[in-house]
Formats: sequence, structure tokens, C-alpha cells
Amino acid sequence: MNAPLIIDPTLKSWIPYPIDSDFPIQNLPLGIFSKSDGITKVCSIIGDQVVDLFGLYSDGFIQCPGLDISDLASGYLNKLLQKGKNTIREIRKDLVQLLSEANTKDQSLIKNHLYPLKSVKLHLPVKVGDYTDFYSSREHATNVGMMFRDPANALLPNWLHLPVGYHGRASSIVVSGTDIKRPKGQIQLKDGEAPILDSTRQLDIELEMAFVIGKENKLGDSIPIEIAEQHIQGLLLFNDWSARDIQRWEYVPLGPFLAKNFASSISPWLIDLDALEPFRTNGPEPSLPLLDYLRNDKPSNFDIELAVYLITSDGTENLICKSNSKYLYWSMSQQLAHHTINGCNMQIGDLCASGTISGPTPDSYGSMLELAWKGTKPLLLKDGTTRSFLLDGDTITIKGFAQHDQYRIGFGEVSGRIVA
Ligand code: CA
Repeated sequence: MNAPLIIDPTLKSWIPYPIDSDFPIQNLPLGIFSKSDGITKVCSIIGDQVVDLFGLYSDGFIQCPGLDISDLASGYLNKLLQKGKNTIREIRKDLVQLLSEANTKDQSLIKNHLYPLKSVKLHLPVKVGDYTDFYSSREHATNVGMMFRDPANALLPNWLHLPVGYHGRASSIVVSGTDIKRPKGQIQLKDGEAPILDSTRQLDIELEMAFVIGKENKLGDSIPIEIAEQHIQGLLLFNDWSARDIQRWEYVPLGPFLAKNFASSISPWLIDLDALEPFRTNGPEPSLPLLDYLRNDKPSNFDIELAVYLITSDGTENLICKSNSKYLYWSMSQQLAHHTINGCNMQIGDLCASGTISGPTPDSYGSMLELAWKGTKPLLLKDGTTRSFLLDGDTITIKGFAQHDQYRIGFGEVSGRIVA
């Protein structure tokens, strides 16, 4: 099966879920879960029921050539990703058949392998070998350029010619629900003064999405843009926590370092690129002609609605940003073609994040730096307090979904609470 697995939009499951569920039968993402015994296994989810794929395979419900039980008994998806897109298509196809309302015979046996989401623990889905962060939103790059450089020439000369990126740190990528400890670092309080060492006063978020590499290229080989998506298994929500005061002092001349590598949070579900196929759309028209290796006639952006909530310590939820991944100037295919044009080898489980996804309007900016415009327009919250940056006790939750007439492909959420 080399074509994307497109699941009938009218198909329903015998497992009930509301029409706005993130996880209908058309989604069936992959994740890693454990029960109270702490043993990690590969799973999927439908509605609010976590589906134990190890259990289904053990009982003969999943029969996929080339699949080994150890691929599903792992603490990460990497071993399964190694088997390739077509193996994962076969698994998702089996799941569609098992969970479809037409399947009336095995329901009680399948139910043995379903667990309420609330009753299990979700883990990091992939062991991330290398993590790259791009800077692919024109609106975000322009806003930052206006605030920190020259408003008339906010974009640097290279920006419209290549997807700017840097190598991040994989070891501090954490799964949704992990507390984020406020980092300390060197901060220059006033221009010209010597720095102090202190906890960051400007802790921020970055609303991003990330793609996971499911197919490797050899060192020295490039991935042509036309086949870039064959190397991408799926997408996650990504929050690239950032300490702006540390960043401002340290980033010249080599870019972000300790302002970024203290933590990045990801959502637990790997949403398959196949499930997003109906939401494919064109990105913005390039403003300048591109070199051939970055040109792609196929629509390569995805219409995924994104929202950021700030929850104060009293539990009040404030919607602070609504954006969409379709705004990205540089697509995942362009990012991957560029990443490998020099022969850099991508490995299974590598993660490439989009960079902050800001939209065209001020309520669609994907960082507090932009939402509160460098502290000049603090956000007024429901509890009467204001924020330019995050306080201890604040929680940030990012949600995302692609909306179809008959269902939605949701990403769940990525959440993290700030602690001292
Ligand atoms: Ca970032």
C-alpha cells in the first residue's frame, strides 16, 4: 500500500464519541502508554478510549506482515517507525476494520484492549535523536525583526530565500503534563552593563508544530522536495519554551542556546500524515523566486487550527491566541529538502519544529513576546491580572485540530505548568 490511507469520512465506530472528538475513527494516531504496572506499550486512541496495540496483536487482531511483537512492546515508537509507512498503514487499516460499526462480532474481545484515557499514563511517543527548530512563519519573523531590529527591514536578507533553522537539544524534550522549571541564566538588565545571574523574568511560549522523521536518508544524500513527505510519518503539537531576557543577551552571533534548551513540550499523539491528507492546502505565494530544490507544485501546507490557553493558578482558562499552521511560509517539505540539501542525514525519530506560528492578526501571534508586544501591551486575564510573560503557577495548553464537515482530526493537547 503505497498511497495514503484515506478513511471514509462517513465511517462510524461502534465505540461512541461526540462529533467534535479529537480522535474519531478517521484519526487513529500512535502513542505510548502504560497502566499502573508501568510497562510501556504502543497504543492508538479512539474517542476517549486508549487502544492497546500490543494486546490486539497478541490476540491476533492485528495481522501485519513484517511486524514483530517487540515493535509494539517498546517504550518509544522508533522501532515501529523503522518498519516504514506501509506497515503503519496496514496497522491503521486493521484498526479501521476492527473499530468500524460494521464489525459486530469481536467487540467484547476488542474491549479487553481498551482503556479509558483517564486511567492510563501517556509517555513521550518518540525517542528524539536530533531536534531542529525552524523559523518558518513570516509574520513571526517580521514581528521579532520589528521589535528587536529595524522595523523597515524586519526580515533579514536570507529569510525569503531559505527556511532558517538551528539545531536544538533533544534531551530536554518532555511530554505534555510535565512541569517546567523556571530557568536561570545570564541576564543583562541594561545596555552596556555587566550581566547578572538570575531566574528569567521573561519566560515565554512558542506555538509550534513538529514533524517526526519516519524514513532515513544516507549521509551525503539529499531528500528531494517531491518525496520529502515519504520521510515524514506524522505531526505533533510543540511548545518551545523560551526565556527572552536570556535569549537577548546570549544569541549573538550563533543563535539561541540556554534560552531554549531547558525544555520543549510535545503532545503525546503522533498524528499520521495520511489522516491530514484531506486538509492539504497551498501556503503563501513566495515573494521571491526560489531555487529549484525548494520549489514544489503540490500544495504542501495543512489547514490545522491552533489555540493557546493560559490557565492561571486558580484554574481560570484564558484563550490568548488562535492561529493556523496554513500560515507558514515554508512548508515541511521545503524544510526537509533544505535540511538535507548538504547531505545531512535524518534519522528515525528526529523531530523538526516549525518555529512560532503567528498569523496575520494580533490575536493570532504565537508567543507572548508578540501578543504583549515586548511588554508594551500586557494581556488582561479573566482574574484581573495582566501578563507580559509567564508567572510561576501559570499553565499553558496548546490545542490543535483540522476540521472536516463530518469529523475532526485532533491533536489532543500539549500542556505545561511553570514552577519555581
Ligand atoms: Ca522556536
